[in-house]
Amino acid sequence: MRLFCLMLSFMIVAVCHGQATNPKQDPFVVVLGTLQDGGSPHMGCEKDCCRNPDASRKVVSLGLIDPVSNKKFLLEATPDFVAQTSMLKALLPSSENKLPDGIFLTHAHIGHYAGLMFLGKEAMNSKAVPVYAMPKMKSFLENNGPWSQLVSLNNIQIKPLSDGNWENISPSLRVKPILVPHRDEFSETVGFIIEGPHKKLLFIPDIDKWEKWRTDIVSLIKEVDHALIDGTFFSAAEVGNRNITEIPHPLVQESMQLFNSLSAKEKEKIMFIHFNHTNPLLIEKSPAAMKVKLNGFGIASEGMQIKL
Ligand SMILES: [Zn+2]
Ligand SMILES: [Zn+2]
Ligand SMILES: [Zn+2]
Repeated sequence: MRLFCLMLSFMIVAVCHGQATNPKQDPFVVVLGTLQDGGSPHMGCEKDCCRNPDASRKVVSLGLIDPVSNKKFLLEATPDFVAQTSMLKALLPSSENKLPDGIFLTHAHIGHYAGLMFLGKEAMNSKAVPVYAMPKMKSFLENNGPWSQLVSLNNIQIKPLSDGNWENISPSLRVKPILVPHRDEFSETVGFIIEGPHKKLLFIPDIDKWEKWRTDIVSLIKEVDHALIDGTFFSAAEVGNRNITEIPHPLVQESMQLFNSLSAKEKEKIMFIHFNHTNPLLIEKSPAAMKVKLNGFGIASEGMQIKL
């Protein structure tokens, strides 16, 4: 009997150990969209970029999946929220919850929060979906219709975030918001660091310019394993008649220059995302896309999965 018990306990330990180290059980990030807020085709654009665009392209969003706790999260509630929510659900079929177990918002620009409207009475009429938001974003949602109705009818339940503080969302996942400079008309803007049992991923879809930030992005890249960062415009040539100083972003050309001194291993961590409809990085083998890859950087694409 004692021998049997000993064998049984060995087996239990082996199974538990196997589960903890099974790479299939590791949490992961999935890219659910890569476009700038206005999407593609872009309202009013008659240029080649919007003549025959790939209709499956979606606005920037990441999914976050933890198979062990059977939980899934969405970063950003975009105008493509409905499709992105079902893409996320399909990646975790064992979860009964049709909706994400939490939604993290970076800021109050349409591409990043307007999808919340689908949770309201006219659509899903959801019950208390946790929405993680910074203080100004929280009060923007609470005090302005139609968002305030989502709060008063308890379609969403706002979970307050604070700059630099980790939020534990499952036994093996935590998320930290970090303030970044951006055109903050309605809310502050944050990026997120997502940490799993093995890796850390930095996500900054929108920032004005790297040099305006008190944090040194080059040092931060060294602290994480992956970085999905603002690649809105490849170069200033794209914006045509619009004044680029009114829509400041780090140009991909400028970012590549800034990161040029990093080692090949560090450069590999960096992937550009949040592409304007005009951005040639949306075209797989464009000279710009080839240049980015030749320089050792990556380009985010929909469906891409990154283990944490
Ligand atoms: Zn944006
Ligand atoms: Zn266009
Ligand atoms: Zn923005």
